[in-house]
Amino acid sequence: MFENSHESRTNLSELGEFGLIDHLTKNFSPKLESTVKAGGDDAAVLNFEGKETLISTDLLLEGVHFDLSYMPLKHLGYKAVMVNLSDIYAMNGTASHVTVSIAVSNRFPVEALEELYAGIQLACKIYNVDMIGGDTTSSTSGLMISVTAVGYAEKEEIAYRSGAKPNDLLVLTGDIGAAYMGLQVLEREKEVFKANPNAQPDLDQYTYIIERQLKPEARKDIPPLLKALEVKPTSMIDISDGLSSEIIHLGKSSKTGMNLFEEKIPLDPAVISVCEEFEIDSTTIALSGGEDYELLFTIDQKDFDKIKGNPNLTVIGHVTEEKEGMHLITRANQKLPLIARGWNSMKEKDN
Ligand SMILES: [Mg+2]
Repeated sequence: MFENSHESRTNLSELGEFGLIDHLTKNFSPKLESTVKAGGDDAAVLNFEGKETLISTDLLLEGVHFDLSYMPLKHLGYKAVMVNLSDIYAMNGTASHVTVSIAVSNRFPVEALEELYAGIQLACKIYNVDMIGGDTTSSTSGLMISVTAVGYAEKEEIAYRSGAKPNDLLVLTGDIGAAYMGLQVLEREKEVFKANPNAQPDLDQYTYIIERQLKPEARKDIPPLLKALEVKPTSMIDISDGLSSEIIHLGKSSKTGMNLFEEKIPLDPAVISVCEEFEIDSTTIALSGGEDYELLFTIDQKDFDKIKGNPNLTVIGHVTEEKEGMHLITRANQKLPLIARGWNSMKEKDN
């Protein structure tokens, strides 16, 4: 969604490729000590002073990962950065730099890209990250954004997916399911709007879930929180595709089984009520919804007292021997195998 669509429209061709990069990035200025050189040369130069370097990249395509009919470009820029920072935090690291590349068709005026970059800039500012480069090119259709995030961590602090061991506790930050239900509301309103362009949707009651979809926040606070609590996660991952597929990733990488307790899954009351409205089971949404960008990790049982009662952290299960497999223990005490359906396959099914 291009918000200033009634104002001036400058054609991309008026600036040319290099002019466009300069124009879009002129307000970005590096602030971190680790940024030795950002832009203006063939490569950026970073110095993490002996720490391990973390790198993660993601590609977002219009029509596949986002829909500009309800996604404001500023939010899209913000979210594209969040998705990547989340992967750095999921290594228990500090995110420090991003590169941003876009391919764009000439249906977007320069002003639309300014909105996109305003979102990117806001994310960089709030998350204390320097933008150090990128590329722009033309696309025959639609918009494509590729963000690469760079970060660092002390070698002994890095949490891989593979370190969980039997009897560890499975811990989740925040609550889940809201981003997917936010998407359901937005998709519904899009259909209503198509049928009646004068309809004025009242979305007040959906504020939380829509925000979780359009403007997710990565959990920058969790690595320093764990450090302060003196807890080193034995394994960690972020929730991009849904709780069950992320649990399965941890279990497979760690060669362990996993038990997840349905009654422990943290859901916001807004998610429960919108699931009732849509007549969807809230556990299914939590398991397969995705895009929450919360962190899922395992800790040694001896660390339980350190995290107990922390409002950011919920113990949702535990790690078992590999031969026991991965299961959901329902409220009715049934043991069901965990299945990785994930957000994408769910989306295809719904369409
Ligand atoms: Mg990830």
